[in-house]
Amino acid sequence: MKKSLRPLPPQLSLEERRANLESAKRARTERAKVKEEVSTSKISIFDAINDPRPSIQRMKVLELLEAIPGVGPARATLIMEKRKISLSRRISGLGPHQLRALRKEVGIMKIDPKRGSLIVMSGPGGVGKSTITQYLKNDPRFWVSISVTTREPRVTEKHGVDYFFVTENKFDQMIAKDEFLEWADFAGARYGTPREAVGEWRDLGKHVLLEIEIEGARQIREKDQSAMLIFIAPPSWEELENRLANRGTDSPERREARLALAREEMASASEFDFTIVNEQVEGVVSQMVSLATALEE
Ligand code: 5GP
Repeated sequence: MKKSLRPLPPQLSLEERRANLESAKRARTERAKVKEEVSTSKISIFDAINDPRPSIQRMKVLELLEAIPGVGPARATLIMEKRKISLSRRISGLGPHQLRALRKEVGIMKIDPKRGSLIVMSGPGGVGKSTITQYLKNDPRFWVSISVTTREPRVTEKHGVDYFFVTENKFDQMIAKDEFLEWADFAGARYGTPREAVGEWRDLGKHVLLEIEIEGARQIREKDQSAMLIFIAPPSWEELENRLANRGTDSPERREARLALAREEMASASEFDFTIVNEQVEGVVSQMVSLATALEE
């Protein structure tokens, strides 16, 4: 039989090897510091889980649990097995169910994470809110709320991922049971933020982001004075007109209606705590991260 030749590993230069060693050393120091902080109850394991540094995200969950005062290796293993989390699982690989399960264990141990803040992001259609949201979905410090809506799913959308798609009846029931933190009518459909999940994720130390329209933002303002309201504005009105015009599929009437709505939405910017101009998505994201983390102090 023919043997396939495996390529040789790339040869690293002395410089590269030194840099690798340095970065591995830095990662070890960062991990040791986090473990020490957990072991002295300076931070909760959730503060560590929400730490975006790659060195911490790569850390094993087991190691983190072991660091909790009074836990140690045997109990840490038991917790992982009880909660059906693989012993080799790393922080970055923890799913929502596992995070909630760990929260229960930590609750029993009475070490609370810092509560996450509530951040509302609004802005006119076409300003790029969904791209910003996509970035923040990949940031361990944030959790993006999944809204409930009565509108039909678009072809690429999935139930439970983009929205929870429900009937008018079900939406009525949810209102009656006071299950929404806010809800509003928009373009012929209803949209609402499920209250329970928002509270749960904030308890897990995540900054919860709501990407909602203006009416909903106003309701949040009234209910929760500590919420941070951020308005995303286009670099200029012309730019927004171009973006809306380039959406392609709209009829001229529909485009006019979108523009009229955008004009109205732009007029409400002054009701928000901050306005961020979307020149470039990375810039907006880093400003949002700074604002959210400023709230932690
Ligand atoms: P779309 O149908 O294009 O996904 O969303 C239409 C509008 O509804 C957007 O402005 C979006 O921000 C807003 N929206 C999405 N979810 C919610 C929600 O839970 N509450 C409110 N008030 N608006 C929402």
